[in-house]
Amino acid sequence: MKIYDLAVIGSGVAGVMVAWWAKRLGVSVVVIDRSSSPATGGSSAAGAFISPKLGKATPLVNLTNEAYEFSSQFYYDFFSEYFERSGMLRFAKDSKDEENLEYYKEIIGSGEILFKDSLIKLGVINESRALFFKNGGVCDSQGLCHYAIKDIDYFQLDLKDVKEQDDYLILEDNIKAKNIVFATGYESFSDFEYMSISGLWGSRGDYYSRDNINTCMHKSLSVSSNINGIIKLGATTSRAKNPCMVCSGEPLKVLEENAVKIANLSSLKIKEIFCGYRANSKDYFPIVGKVIDSNFMLKRYPSIKKGYKKVPLEYKKNYYVLNGLGARGFVFAPFLAKMLVEHIFNGKEILDTVNSDRLFLRWARKLEN
Ligand SMILES: Cc1cc2nc3c(=O)[nH]c(=O)nc-3n(C[C@H](O)[C@H](O)[C@H](O)COP(=O)(O)OP(=O)(O)OC[C@H]3O[C@@H](n4cnc5c(N)ncnc54)[C@H](O)[C@@H]3O)c2cc1C
Repeated sequence: MKIYDLAVIGSGVAGVMVAWWAKRLGVSVVVIDRSSSPATGGSSAAGAFISPKLGKATPLVNLTNEAYEFSSQFYYDFFSEYFERSGMLRFAKDSKDEENLEYYKEIIGSGEILFKDSLIKLGVINESRALFFKNGGVCDSQGLCHYAIKDIDYFQLDLKDVKEQDDYLILEDNIKAKNIVFATGYESFSDFEYMSISGLWGSRGDYYSRDNINTCMHKSLSVSSNINGIIKLGATTSRAKNPCMVCSGEPLKVLEENAVKIANLSSLKIKEIFCGYRANSKDYFPIVGKVIDSNFMLKRYPSIKKGYKKVPLEYKKNYYVLNGLGARGFVFAPFLAKMLVEHIFNGKEILDTVNSDRLFLRWARKLEN
């Protein structure tokens, strides 16, 4: 029997970052995934661009940009082999939005406005102005996830249920853990129904290229710098249940068409296509923290279905979640995994905006209708 302080279910970027921080804190940790190796879910398809969010100073924009500042430095410090800090150019959506670039720069607190001559040198066409973030870049999503847990126990298991025995959670006949973090992406267990996690398909392409693109850039799609003869394009999105019916085998057509409108690309030859889901929350904020025991709550306090709110929340003992990272899993994961691990083992607070508690009462109220 192997006994751990923490079991992490899911070896996408969310799970591996939780495991990485737990190991750093000195607690014993195991990663469990139904796949035999890490990053086969949404994290395999990710372009894994590390880029800030442009927009008005809303709580989501501020949170994303705090995570961006943290994660770009984190990858540079600890994962430099898997993070190409070639910078990130962000273009305005349209000519009206161009006037906002100075404002976005102030909101983010970093960045530099570049004009046509500098942009041409970086491989940009048709754009006269952009915001450049020198600390941005792109990760090797699969390499990074493998490396993050190279010294951590890993078990292949399609987890169906968890049993409780004394103070432990039993995952398999031979694995038990004190705490469990669910980082399962868009596929959720019934315990997480109240979090209403939904999936969105996306694709990315890796291309052989001789084009001289020196930085990453984003407009409606992201284009990576040329790294050892490879350029990445990502991402398309589709809400369809069966995206293959929608794209009819050409998920990257739109990406390719849009890429040549912003970057000086003439020699793209497809190497590999990746398709995967990303997991979203209803309010677009990530979901971090404890897991509420919804069955218990609904039985004990049926009035919550009528909107009654003054009830104490009851949790599934030692269950935690990190999910709903949306289009920015690689930006959010290091920042939020640290927050969660410090919450579990040091009792630190989870930020209200991402705390999983926020979703429960709203969900319970909707059950009545
Ligand atoms: C095309 C595309 C492009 C993207 N580009 C970017 C980008 O440029 N930058 C960025 O930051 N983000 C990007 N994202 C978003 C990012 O990929 C996701 O937010 C991130 O990968 C989510 O990671 P995760 O660990 O939560 O989920 P996943 O990577 O999906 O991992 C979940 C894991 O849980 C496992 N699992 C599920 N259920 C069970 C079970 N019962 N038992 C055992 N294992 C289980 C799965 O096998 C899987 O390995 C992109 C996403 C897509 C699809």
